Amino acid sequence: MTPTREIYWNISWGLAVYPIAIISIAIMALGIYARVNRWRAGRPSEKPSEISLRIWRTLVNALGQARILREGYAGVMHLLIFWGFVVLFIGTLLVMVHEDFHIRVLQGNFYLGYKLALNIFGLGAIVGILMAAFRRYVIKARRLDSDRAFAIAIAFIFVILVTGFLVEGFRIAATELTQHPDWAPWSLGGYGVALIVRGIGEPTLLTLHAATWWFHMITAFTFIAFCIGWSTQSHILLAPVNVFLMRLRPKGALKTIADFKDKGALGMGSVRDAVWKDLVDSDVCVRCGRCHERCPAASTGKPLSPRTIVQKIKNQLHMETVGLPWHSGGNGARPQPNPIVGQNISDDEIWSCTTCGACHYECPIFVEPMTKIVELRRHEVMVRGKMPETAQVAMVSLQKRGHPWTGTPHMRTEWANDLNLNQLSKAGPSEGRSNLLFWVGCSGALVDRNMLVSQAMARILQRAGVEFYVLGNEETCCGDPARRVGNEYLFQSLAKKNIKILQHYQVKTILTTCPHCFNTFKNEYPDLGGVFEVVHHTQFIASLLAQGKLKLDPPSIQSLTFHDPCYLGRHNDVYEPPRSVAQAAGGSDIREMVRSRERSFCCGGGGGRAWMEETIGTRINQMRTREALSTGASIVGTACPFCLQMFEDGIKGIDAGERIRVLDLAELVGQALQTTEATPRQVTEVPLG
Ligand code: SF4
Ligand code: SF4
Repeated sequence: MTPTREIYWNISWGLAVYPIAIISIAIMALGIYARVNRWRAGRPSEKPSEISLRIWRTLVNALGQARILREGYAGVMHLLIFWGFVVLFIGTLLVMVHEDFHIRVLQGNFYLGYKLALNIFGLGAIVGILMAAFRRYVIKARRLDSDRAFAIAIAFIFVILVTGFLVEGFRIAATELTQHPDWAPWSLGGYGVALIVRGIGEPTLLTLHAATWWFHMITAFTFIAFCIGWSTQSHILLAPVNVFLMRLRPKGALKTIADFKDKGALGMGSVRDAVWKDLVDSDVCVRCGRCHERCPAASTGKPLSPRTIVQKIKNQLHMETVGLPWHSGGNGARPQPNPIVGQNISDDEIWSCTTCGACHYECPIFVEPMTKIVELRRHEVMVRGKMPETAQVAMVSLQKRGHPWTGTPHMRTEWANDLNLNQLSKAGPSEGRSNLLFWVGCSGALVDRNMLVSQAMARILQRAGVEFYVLGNEETCCGDPARRVGNEYLFQSLAKKNIKILQHYQVKTILTTCPHCFNTFKNEYPDLGGVFEVVHHTQFIASLLAQGKLKLDPPSIQSLTFHDPCYLGRHNDVYEPPRSVAQAAGGSDIREMVRSRERSFCCGGGGGRAWMEETIGTRINQMRTREALSTGASIVGTACPFCLQMFEDGIKGIDAGERIRVLDLAELVGQALQTTEATPRQVTEVPLG
């Protein structure tokens, strides 16, 4: 006989599941609709473009669970539950197709394979649920907060899965075990249950089967209606939507304000000022805590947690749209413009962020806490005129002197006094087109420690025979500090001035030793009309080495660890060139810190933090210095002026000067430049960019 089974076997009124399903789906849809409508309380977002790329990324991250799988235990756990859910859902649809649409698919070998697949994935989902409960309630993973809705949801899923196997087991015990014993083992879980209950008399088995079947159905539809429709479990439907809507601009680029007369566009003062996408982001956050765990501010005892920021925006949205769930958007009533900062989120929270981007990298569903923090800062700075006093001093200096370093005794060109460099102003516009512009940056030109790096870089270029120019006194800040603290107006005025000068000299390629300048020119100036080829000095040196244009002495450094600057690594994916340079100049003993590359831990100097006091918790630079020390390396190499300063302070702060010192990779190469001619050493070719 062809293997198959009667679908509503032993169930009277089985078709009653349809009205129940319709009611359940309607309640769920109402919940989802209420949420979607709440999002409309915000300002319009740009319409999604590049649809095929979005679909691809949604498939990779929703079906493939790519980001979730970055973490072993949590990734496997979620994968088991997710795919268990998907396969059981498909299995249920096939039952409908077979029975109610009379397309007999569940028969023969397909039916046996179907049974096996559903059982494997169902058992996998149970393992996943047990792993989730174990992690949250037994080992109590630190990053997870208490969430009653989560407890209810996993209890529901567990009951649904277990009762599914019980129903199957009772049916097999009453039918297949005696009538078709060769079909039964294909239902791994159900067969196991059947072997246990087979001693029970048939009438009792039938009663147990029917009762469990109804209990299973009612529980499943209750879960769909209330958990998926009205709780965090709506992420099953909404997380893929958020992934689809992800921002596709370069990772390191902040949004450009197009109209400063539009007061609502000057950052996020209330949920009314938030763009639609920021509200979707906040609403779908599942409180997994991955961002919290990696945040340098949260890890060092500051009051900031990216998860909490997102949750507070979500809570404010929900609070302010209570009573308006059906007409909060469009032309209907809108929530009151209640301030977020000061009322719901504290000043210390928003000013603790280093804009390191770790929260963006970690979030499995592409929520962006950092951009919300910058939006909150923008409102504080541009509308309320509030920011930490020390940051204010730096901004005034930027406005008046074109750099943020108040109290520097140096002039812009002093660092190059003995170097005999060419200035574009003396060369004429066309020289910029065919030659490299070395953008020195405010720190490189005005801070003693960083001036050494600029000098080393200039010598490297001269030694390699590269023709290059500098802007000299015409150079001002690229604007990064202003933009990161939220002073978008000041950023744009600096950026536009720089673009005008660079375009006047027809500059094509900019070389910079600062990842912040690098990121700003590369990713943020294009929005304002400044499109240049931008190269970081580690990329450039790696390329010179690969071409044999630099000859270095044999490495004398014993061991080196490289600290990935956030704006070079995480924001711009430049990881190999610095390592290649470090290896060529420092030797093969490169020791990675526990947190490196994409997961590098911030030095504490980004996001304008270099100009703010750090008075709460452990100093971030000291925590990072300890990580560098734990590698046993004698040098910590870096490639960013802020990281260099932060490590200098960190090393002093923990009195570790005798064990480790910090060098920019340009300094390392500068020290290794051969004084005599020799055969150039070959290193692995590293592409620019
Ligand atoms: S950008 Fe970095 S410091 Fe800011 S919230 Fe995210 S992880 Fe924390
Ligand atoms: S923002 Fe993302 S990573 Fe952070 S708690 Fe929410 S879902 Fe998790």
